[in-house]
Amino acid sequence: MPDPVKESTILHVDMDAFFASVEQRDHPQWKGLPVVVGSPPDKRGVVSAASYEARKFGIHSAMPSREAGKRCPHAIFTPPNIGRYAEVSAQIFAIFERYTPEIEGLSLDEAFLDVTKSLGLFGTGLSIAEAIRAAIHGELGLTASVGIASNKFLAKIASDMNKPDGVTLVPREPRAIKAFLAPLPIGRLWGVGKVTEAMLRKAGLHTIGAVQEATDAQLLALVTKAQAQHFRRLCAGEDDRRVEPHVEAKGISREQTFGEDVSDPRVIRETLLFLIEDVGRQLREAGKYARVVGIKVRWQGFETITRRLTLTPAACDNFTLRRSALALLDKVAFEKPVRLVGFGVYELADSAGEQMNLLDATGKGPEKHERLSRTLDEIGKRFGRASRRRAP
Ligand SMILES: [Mg+2]
Repeated sequence: MPDPVKESTILHVDMDAFFASVEQRDHPQWKGLPVVVGSPPDKRGVVSAASYEARKFGIHSAMPSREAGKRCPHAIFTPPNIGRYAEVSAQIFAIFERYTPEIEGLSLDEAFLDVTKSLGLFGTGLSIAEAIRAAIHGELGLTASVGIASNKFLAKIASDMNKPDGVTLVPREPRAIKAFLAPLPIGRLWGVGKVTEAMLRKAGLHTIGAVQEATDAQLLALVTKAQAQHFRRLCAGEDDRRVEPHVEAKGISREQTFGEDVSDPRVIRETLLFLIEDVGRQLREAGKYARVVGIKVRWQGFETITRRLTLTPAACDNFTLRRSALALLDKVAFEKPVRLVGFGVYELADSAGEQMNLLDATGKGPEKHERLSRTLDEIGKRFGRASRRRAP
């Protein structure tokens, strides 16, 4: 019987320098110039995205804007317009939907598509990838890079290999897959954080090929048995995660991987609060209300849980998002160190829906919380705090 995962055809579509490319498209006079989306260089704050021309000066997302200004004083700085990017994102996802309903959005500009069942109608993974790229370019004036493979891990690695405006097809034969992965740095392995990477490098394991060649004894001297098994499978290009449609699609989420696994519940809570604030602001900027909120916790050893809660009415204010997420967090038993936490809002609606006039335990109505959150967004923007965000 054929292994269903091996027979799958998965695309990972990733827009090229998405925020910056939308700005360049919307401002044709910026084409070919270094464009930095983020805080201005004289304010505190960071770069959200940089055009390829700006990247040539060593500017990248999450870099302080001040540093970016030093590296390229003539760069064009423009504040992020998340509402605009969300609009374009919806157009991109509508193009995906012509080819498959099985779409798992990872962020505004990135998604996995399982096109296995579309092959009969549209040909090969490659022909679907090219059709999607042509539609994005022809209809939206933007470029995307696509990786095509038998699973998510390989497809995601591949989309990055011929960026920008490129397609990469990963071979299917196990030995060819190993050869494809061998030259890549070990940082490309899914789930390898900075600490683990440094440790593997210290042991002389710089490439995926080196881990492929390493003996069990060598690996077990460095990492736990579960991690070693995880590495072995990934280094062989094996990954059986499914494309999960509608799980994160059309939602906004953000996660934080800790440099070192965390056991202190206060750190986990603080990090979650930071993520909630960031996601909440993006939600309000997009003019949406969340019907569902969710948290994600990944333990040391890669086991991951998600917890979700439906909001009635839908909401976009930080108070409601915080209260819901912390209620979910309270129900999680923390018995192991935590590697990653995430927060997301899903099933986004254009309005809160009914029951807008109910008061909550604080005696405030939802509109009051919403107004307060929006006021704080404005204040944050004025003082440059709103842009202190990593790019998606
Ligand atoms: Mg991208």
